[in-house]
Amino acid sequence: MNFVIDAPEIPSLPVRGSNDLFPVHRIYCVGRNYASHAREMGHDPDREPPFFFQKNPDTLVPSGGRFPYPDKSNDVHHEIELVVALAKGGKDIPESRALDCVYGYAVGIDMTRRDLQGQAKKMGRPWDVGKAFDHAAPCSEVVPATAIGHPTSARIWLEVNSEVRQDGDINQLIWNIPETISCLSGLFTLAPGDLIYTGTPAGVGAVQRGDQLKGAVEGVAEISITVV
Ligand code: MN
Repeated sequence: MNFVIDAPEIPSLPVRGSNDLFPVHRIYCVGRNYASHAREMGHDPDREPPFFFQKNPDTLVPSGGRFPYPDKSNDVHHEIELVVALAKGGKDIPESRALDCVYGYAVGIDMTRRDLQGQAKKMGRPWDVGKAFDHAAPCSEVVPATAIGHPTSARIWLEVNSEVRQDGDINQLIWNIPETISCLSGLFTLAPGDLIYTGTPAGVGAVQRGDQLKGAVEGVAEISITVV
């Protein structure tokens, strides 16, 4: 059977220690998953259950790549995040089995057109234009859990032009990895190849053309991109 047009490529990420690629199915993101970031955005972190949005998988940018400053925005922000890569999916996954679904981890930057996201919030509209635009999902290589285990405590940081802007620890996640996978799988049937951007600590801010962004989750992976 042939397709009537050329089939789209499968988005993918490199895998540490392998020549093979991790194929990406969907990209889910958790909103406000660190108390410090919830507060800087004007929300009470204690009273809000997790919520999710999506990015388009073909918006991935590999580490070392270029992030073209997007159109229609004058306020594009960085959000450094631990990323979970799933080897298995399912529906209503219990927390006790959630880590069995994890292939590995990566570090990503949830690039955000903050001005368009802010307008959408104010008007009760979807966040897609703020979050799912072209090149909005820079992501490092995927590191297999067989190599590093399942991190629960590690420094997460991002520098812009060698100046630290975000600095936290993944032990500050409001909803940890098993809770996030379990909750998300109640809303969507998760699948092999899904990525979950788990939220960002405080310190988000605007980027400019020419900026060098570098970040990491220590013991997991590093990412660097250039804004062009
Ligand atoms: Mn985010």
